Amino acid sequence: MASATIIAVVLLACVRLFAGIMMGAAYLRQRVPWEPLEGFEGVRVHDLSGLVDRELLRDAVRAAVDALLRYSDFEPERVRGLTRDLSIAVQRVESWHAMDGTQVGGLAQGRTVYIGPSLSALLHEAAHVLEMNESNFPDYRHSQWGTRGIWAADNAYRAKLGELSRARVEGRAS
Ligand SMILES: [Zn+2]
Repeated sequence: MASATIIAVVLLACVRLFAGIMMGAAYLRQRVPWEPLEGFEGVRVHDLSGLVDRELLRDAVRAAVDALLRYSDFEPERVRGLTRDLSIAVQRVESWHAMDGTQVGGLAQGRTVYIGPSLSALLHEAAHVLEMNESNFPDYRHSQWGTRGIWAADNAYRAKLGELSRARVEGRAS
C-alpha cells in the first residue's frame, strides 16, 4: 500500500514537471514576435538581424518554392505547403559550412528555418523542413540531394536571389 502511494506521488510529480516544461516552451514560443509575411497564407518572420527587406524576402520565398517545384522530386503539394506553414528566423549565421564546403548559414527545426540576412540558405533549410515533413529523417549529409534534384534547385534559387538582390539595390540607387 505504502509503495503504491509512493509510486502515485512520484508519477504525479513527473506529470507536473512535464506539464511545467511544456507550458514553459509554449510561453517562450508565444513570446517570439513572429510577424506574418504579407502575400502568404502561413509564412511568419522574426528578423533578429534588422537587415531584411520584406519585399526581397517575399520574392525569395517565391523563388525557393518555384525552384523546388521545378527541379526537386518533392511532392508538389508538400512544396506548396511550405507557404501555408513556415517560420523564418533571420539572424547573423552566414559563416556556417556544409560538408561539401559550401556556405550554409542556416538550420531547420520542425517548420522553422534559421537563416542569415543574405537569405541564401532559405531553399537549403526549406528542403530539410520538407524532408522532415516527408519522412522525419532529414538528409543532413545531403547524400541524396544530387539524385533528388535539390542541389539543382538550390543553384537555381541562389542565381535568382542574386538577380533579385541586384535589382533591389539598383532600384534603390535610381
Ligand atoms: Zn543541410
